[in-house]
This record gives sequence, structure tokens and C-alpha cells, in this order.
Amino acid sequence: MSNSILVVGGGFSGITAALEAAELGHEVYIVEKSPYLGGRVMQLNKYFPKLCPPSCGLEIQYQRIRNNPNVKFFTQAQVVAVSGKSPDFKVKVRIEPRYTSATSVEMAELVDELEGTATDEFNFGLAERKALYMDVPFAFPHRYVVDPAAMAGEDEKVLHRNPGVDLDQEGKEIELEVGSIVIATGWKPYDASQLTNLGAGEITNCVTNMQLERLAAASGPTKGDIKRPSDGKAVKKVAFVQCAGSRDQNHLNFCSYICCMASLKQAAYVREQYPDAEITIFYIDLRTPERYQKFAAKILADEKITAVKGKVAAVAEDGSGDVLITVENAVSGIKTEQRFDLVVLATGMQPSLAGEKLPIDVEVDADGFIVGGADQGIFAAGCAKKPLDVMKSAQSATGAAMKAIQTVRGR
Ligand code: SF4
Repeated sequence: MSNSILVVGGGFSGITAALEAAELGHEVYIVEKSPYLGGRVMQLNKYFPKLCPPSCGLEIQYQRIRNNPNVKFFTQAQVVAVSGKSPDFKVKVRIEPRYTSATSVEMAELVDELEGTATDEFNFGLAERKALYMDVPFAFPHRYVVDPAAMAGEDEKVLHRNPGVDLDQEGKEIELEVGSIVIATGWKPYDASQLTNLGAGEITNCVTNMQLERLAAASGPTKGDIKRPSDGKAVKKVAFVQCAGSRDQNHLNFCSYICCMASLKQAAYVREQYPDAEITIFYIDLRTPERYQKFAAKILADEKITAVKGKVAAVAEDGSGDVLITVENAVSGIKTEQRFDLVVLATGMQPSLAGEKLPIDVEVDADGFIVGGADQGIFAAGCAKKPLDVMKSAQSATGAAMKAIQTVRGR
């Protein structure tokens, strides 16, 4: 029987669950598939409720991890098999090589010299990255990672100049014994290429809300300047298209909870940078629950931000890079075509497990949200369970951690 707890996923929920359990004396293992802890919050420019930059809230969590020997974490790692049952699970974890040593952190000078590039997934394809990279300056662990598939030309020689690079590192498998499991695998943005009437992700100046977060972030590809991707032009007329893929039987048949608030927040980003910019938010319903109503009222009091109740029927590109929106106003019934510099699709939140198979025997619903597990000592946390904002994800993670603790303590 094990008193230890496994947390699958090292985003905000996973970190919170791990710390809650560790600070009550339990040994906790976090298994995170990306090279860094922090999850989707790392990719945001600011997050609710206080609209802090991610470096601020996450750094507090990272510090708690550094100070707590009960937390052990593995990055670039995935659970590959689970056997046994609570409180006696045996978990096999596969850890991929990082190709850099734990002690060597200063490698920035090498990056510019590298030739090869790969699509920068962290920036949602808005930029390319090199074979040696660190997603954000506040990344934790603060270590570069090498992607050998992106190497070209003399890259190997350049990398070998730094003694901290070790291209001979190999992956390994480890086995953990745990009494309970928290699944905090988080969410992914709905794939805009499925939205054929909204340009299907093919219109350069029609970006998703997560791409806009990267454009607005100081650590992003434009260093925080919100500009048109096609030509770097200032954005003076911006549209937000709500429910892009959500509340739609053909896509996500649920409300994604966060995207109305995200668009209001992003409208404020644009207005801060461009005092004369005009913004139109096309919505079906504006969902701003609880304390967010005040925030919404403040944003919508800006006379340059207009919310129009109407379903966007089509998004198209004209030859100049402008984006044309066809929309029917739900109040007047009038259908119009309107021109914008930049269009932002408020794409929804899909559980990361949608279309994926986790090697843990736990029930998921048709959308990929976890709905079972409690009677097996397995507890879902955060957006693995349902669409949530960061604050509610942390509450959900605390609840999951408490249940995991009760399980291993036999209560
Ligand atoms: Fe639509 Fe708003 Fe719900 Fe997102 S939060 S799915 S934009 S109603």
C-alpha cells in the first residue's frame, strides 16, 4: 500500500493538486508531457481574476515546489501503463531526453547561430523556433531543451560548443508506486481548421483567441505588439467572433465557459495599445458569470467597444489582407458584410483527452471529459473534468487532492 499520489499533468490544476497533497505530508509525483510545468496558463498574456501575467501566479507555485521535497516532477514524461488498484497502483512512466544537463542553463547565445527551424507550437504556429529553445523566459524548470528533428546544417557542431548539451542522452522508463491518482490533463483549443465557414484557420489575419494571447504577451513572437500577422500593420478595426466551435452540435456541443470573458479581456488588450481602435464583439449570449459581470460592464462601457447580438455566418479574406465578416444582426434581422483589419475567433475549450487514449482505466464522456474514477481512487481535476477558468480549476484541484488524500489514508 502506498501513501504517495500521482498527478498526471503539470498545468495549474496539476501543480495545485500536487502542492495541496505534498503540504499535507504526502509524496507526490507530477508527470508532465511538455518540457515545462505551467500548462496553458504559461501561454496567456494575463489571466483572471486579477489579470496578472502568468509569471506572477506561476512563480509562487514554482517556489512552493522548489521548497517542498515531497514534490517530485518529471517533464517530457508520459504515463504509459498502470496496473493494480488503489491504494496499490504501479505506474510506468516514459521520460524523453531533454539533451541538456540539469546544471547548465545559459545557452541563449547559441540559439541565434542555429540554422534549422520548426513550427513553434507554443506560439500556435505564429512563429518558427530553433532546435534549442525555452518556451518563455520564466519557464520552470529553467532549462533549455533540444529538438533534434529541427536541426539542420552545422547545428550539431554549434550545440556541442556548450558542455551542457548532450545529444547522446536517451529516454528511460521508471516505475512508481502510488495509492491514488489525480488526472489534471487540462484542455486544448478547439481546432480552428474544423470551422470551414469561419475560414478554417486559413485566413492569416483571422486568428484564434489563444493566438491573440501570444501576440499580446511580452514573451510572444511580436514581443507584445498586437499587429496583423500578414503585414505587421496596426489594428484599428477588430472583430471577435464568439462561440467559434462551441455550443454547436457539429463541433463542441457545450459552452466553453471562458471565451466570453477572454474576448472582453482581449478587447481591453487592443484598446490599451490602440486608443483609437474600434472593436465589435459578435455574440449569441455573453456569458460573464458571478464576479465577472462587473468586469464585463466596465469593458462594455468603453464607447469604442460594441457588442452585437448576431451569429457570424462567414469569414472571408479579400486581396488586401482585410477580413470580411458576414453576420445577421439577431435584433434587427439585417444581414451585413463588414470589413476588419483583424478577426479573432473565440475558439472553445476541448479536453486534452478528446480523441486521445489515456492508459488509465477511467470513464470519459463523448466530449472527452472525465466522468468516472472516484470509486477506483482516481480523481479528475480542472479542465479534464469540465470547462473552467483558472480560479475554479484551482478549487477543483484542491478538491481532487483532498479526495486522493482520503483514499490513501483509508477514509
Ligand atoms: Fe460562447 Fe461565451 Fe460560452 Fe464561449 S463562453 S461558448 S463564447 S457563450
